[in-house]
Amino acid sequence: MTSPVLFMPYFALWAALMRALLVKAAVLPATCGRCGLRYERQHLGEPVCSCSR
Ligand SMILES: [Zn+2]
Repeated sequence: MTSPVLFMPYFALWAALMRALLVKAAVLPATCGRCGLRYERQHLGEPVCSCSR
């Protein structure tokens, strides 16, 4: 019998891994590691987010 409380961290880690794989596969747009939003300039050189300034 597994407690849902113990299962939550495992699920969160698994979801983060799947999201990273989807971003790598270009299914989802790359997101900023700090704010989690999309990069403003994804097509012009390096990805830049407004929170990194
Ligand atoms: Zn950001």
